[in-house]
Amino acid sequence: MKIAIIGAGFGGMAAAYDLRKAGHEVIIYESANYVGGLASGFKEPNWDWSVEKFYHHWFQSDSSMLGLIEELGLKDKVIFPRPYTVLLYNGKWYPFDSILKALLFPGLGFGLDKIRFGFVGLYLRLTNDWKSLEQYTADEWMRKYAGRKVYEKMWKPLLVGKFGPFYKDVNMAWMWARLKARTTRLGTFEGGFQKFADLFAEILREMGVEIRLGTQVKFIKRNQARPEQSRREKGLLVDAGGVVDSYDKVVVTTSPNLMAKFAPDLPQNYLKGLLELKSMGAVVMVLSLKHQLSKEGYYWFNLPKDAGYPMLALVEHTNFVSKEHFGGDHIVYAGDYLEVGHEYFSMSDEELLERFTPALKKFNPEFSRDWVKKVWVNKTNYAQPVPLVNHSKNIPTIQTPIEGLYFASMSQVYPWDRGTNFAVEIGRRVARMMLATNK
Ligand SMILES: Cc1cc2nc3c(=O)[nH]c(=O)nc-3n(C[C@H](O)[C@H](O)[C@H](O)COP(=O)(O)OP(=O)(O)OC[C@H]3O[C@@H](n4cnc5c(N)ncnc54)[C@H](O)[C@@H]3O)c2cc1C
Repeated sequence: MKIAIIGAGFGGMAAAYDLRKAGHEVIIYESANYVGGLASGFKEPNWDWSVEKFYHHWFQSDSSMLGLIEELGLKDKVIFPRPYTVLLYNGKWYPFDSILKALLFPGLGFGLDKIRFGFVGLYLRLTNDWKSLEQYTADEWMRKYAGRKVYEKMWKPLLVGKFGPFYKDVNMAWMWARLKARTTRLGTFEGGFQKFADLFAEILREMGVEIRLGTQVKFIKRNQARPEQSRREKGLLVDAGGVVDSYDKVVVTTSPNLMAKFAPDLPQNYLKGLLELKSMGAVVMVLSLKHQLSKEGYYWFNLPKDAGYPMLALVEHTNFVSKEHFGGDHIVYAGDYLEVGHEYFSMSDEELLERFTPALKKFNPEFSRDWVKKVWVNKTNYAQPVPLVNHSKNIPTIQTPIEGLYFASMSQVYPWDRGTNFAVEIGRRVARMMLATNK
């Protein structure tokens, strides 16, 4: 078969790997000039490692990603440092990255609330019945079983931070997936995620996969080949700005919105399903600083929206991996999940820095504007799918109603939350589906 894959993120590259291994001709179209998609990174001339545009790490439970890395012979490049994640209580930060630390966290007191917190956490880790949980919103389920105080202290800030105005609509299966598929140990790749993406692309090219960078797909259409045309004419046409090629099968790994634009010939109900899916965007500033921001060496600060911070997460990357990899620069992320149209999307880098700077003093009173060497602001409209009640009924099928056209995106990894691990999982799943229907 001749197969086109739209998108050289981890989903597209994982699909390409299995399809090429099975002997098929594979061409990847990628609109950016680099591979890695949402998990890609960038590098200053004096840095040895790249920095992800949006903060990224792996969990020890990321078996699809870690399994693929092992298959590629790159396992020795994965590291799992022990960074600190902290939570705010009464103006003070408390480590919150192990069961012991959670038990010692004073925010829930040491009585019934803590017991409820523990039991609910244990139940969610042990149960596999997410189908029952998706019938409830996380807001109603947590209030009922964890109790108002535990919910408002621990879980509501997480929902509000991730989903803003939709926080009350998110289903309980999302919360279950967060607790089920995450570990406190966090991992990364030596050299950064971009290094891994580049090595993966190199392996794919050596296998014979063609990766067309800087090539933006505009349309995917059925090939209306007339009977008298060559029998070699393929079933689907991919139009990348006037250059049209024909393929037996096509996989799209972009957002549902883009999928709907590429293939307007899809039946109305499928298109409607794509367009009705909700998601949040993200705006993330990366700062290189002259000095360490968190003197305690904290990596991840969970910031409750009601504590008045202008961002959701403050992440000091160089408290996770050494500043030596970045020429001694201290790397800090300040970011938020936001609805597209939020003012942060239209603010200049300088304006956003002005907005964030006063808050940085709260992490270190000595911080001053002249610590900032450089900033980069990364924005994406499609960062986090929003799963509503009974969401499993709304997931677009991977095999679309157009024969040979497949869709495998972050919005379909449900009940799991999006992540590079699940991009690999769905990429390999779509490859299996295509191989199974290869006649
Ligand atoms: C703020 C943030 C934090 C995150 N944190 C983590 C984390 O800690 N750990 C983790 O594992 N994951 C994390 N993720 C999620 C992770 O980045 C994604 O789940 C994963 O990268 C998705 O991979 P994908 O291949 O499905 O899609 P993408 O990476 O989005 O790939 C799709 C590709 O399609 C390309 N494309 C788009 N339009 C066209 C076109 N017209 N023609 C050709 N190509 C096109 C895009 O350029 C892109 O490269 C985070 C994401 C965000 C936004």
